[in-house]
Amino acid sequence: MSESRASGDRFAVELDPAMLQRHIDELGAIGALAEGGLYRGVYTPAWAEAMALVQGWLEALGLETRRDAVGNLFGRLPGTESQRAVLSGSHIDTVRQGGKYDGALGIHAAIAAIGALKAAYGRPRKHLEVYVICEEEGSRFHASFWGSRALNGRIAPHEADSLQDADGVAIGQAMRERGLDSSAIPSAKRDDVDAFIELHIEQGRILDDEGYDAGVVHTITGLRQLRVRVGGRQDHAGTTPMDLRRDALAGAVEMIARLTGAAEAMGRPAVATVGSIAVAPGATNVVPASCTFTIDTRHSDPGKRLELLAAIERHLQEVAARRGLELEVQQLIEHHPVPMTPAIRDLVEACAQAEGLRYLSMPSGAGHDSQIMAQHVPTGMVFVPSVDGRSHTPAEYTPVERSVPGVRVLARALYRLAY
Ligand SMILES: [Zn+2]
Repeated sequence: MSESRASGDRFAVELDPAMLQRHIDELGAIGALAEGGLYRGVYTPAWAEAMALVQGWLEALGLETRRDAVGNLFGRLPGTESQRAVLSGSHIDTVRQGGKYDGALGIHAAIAAIGALKAAYGRPRKHLEVYVICEEEGSRFHASFWGSRALNGRIAPHEADSLQDADGVAIGQAMRERGLDSSAIPSAKRDDVDAFIELHIEQGRILDDEGYDAGVVHTITGLRQLRVRVGGRQDHAGTTPMDLRRDALAGAVEMIARLTGAAEAMGRPAVATVGSIAVAPGATNVVPASCTFTIDTRHSDPGKRLELLAAIERHLQEVAARRGLELEVQQLIEHHPVPMTPAIRDLVEACAQAEGLRYLSMPSGAGHDSQIMAQHVPTGMVFVPSVDGRSHTPAEYTPVERSVPGVRVLARALYRLAY
């Protein structure tokens, strides 16, 4: 396939799959746990080791490296004409017992793409930068999107002290241990970014099941997480007839069946998950007095999302009223759906077509740094298949030959944006 008519240039870069594989293996060895999988929480020793490794790769490629106030790492191929920058990358932190690909592959892809562009075309017009994002997962602190929030000036002043890890260490203190000064966080804000493209594993099974080479994300899903407490009456399990009970768990079970049923009835990409449940007092011969469970519900379409949320609310209320149960619903997290920037999404699709790929335009059911970036700078995402849809587990896997098509799409898109 040739892109010559569209761009006025022949596009011919040579990617290095062996380097990509080496980077996957070397970074994937840092933070390895005895019980399997990886953990690279932000500002931990494993995180610092990973950052140093990647900085070495960037320098070996001849890129100018810089770290900002929160420890985001940039590797710049300087532009010849403009002081504006085009960025590509992803996060270097992991969940506990995570895999080698979530986040990391987006870093490896940016390095491979920018390295190949440098070799084929030399310096771009605009700065072209590998963006190694310090934190996204919220796995050590509830800091989610810490790196991309810093870059966009979205960290509140109190967070350096108020965000604490499981040992009570504040994130500001953890930063000091890495030589970073939390009072300088506002200096991480950038106003010179023209575009950001993130390559990421899908973390689901649609591309793999249906044999696609890549996905082009149109929207990052909206998410609401709730904690529901159902209150009943604690009674003797032998002496209290069924019709006289206010059984908190029986009510919760009916609520859960109905709310998951509502998402099933709506169809893809609606999801509703109850992933955590606790029953009190929790005895074999006692009618449960209370039941607390969480709901995680997502949809990429704003209208459908509200429809699903309304249906869930209705089911909770109806079941509680009929069974005479108390109901308390607490909202934990609310993220609205974030569409990717149409011009970048179209560009990524055009590049996938130019590569001759079989690709799918799709929503992302997982959150990504791109949902923060897209609210400030033109942003797009490329997905590569996750074998069997596995993610946030050591079983996460994408063979290098199934990453390369997406990396080529990324390289083409960066070429169009920066050269
Ligand atoms: Zn990720």
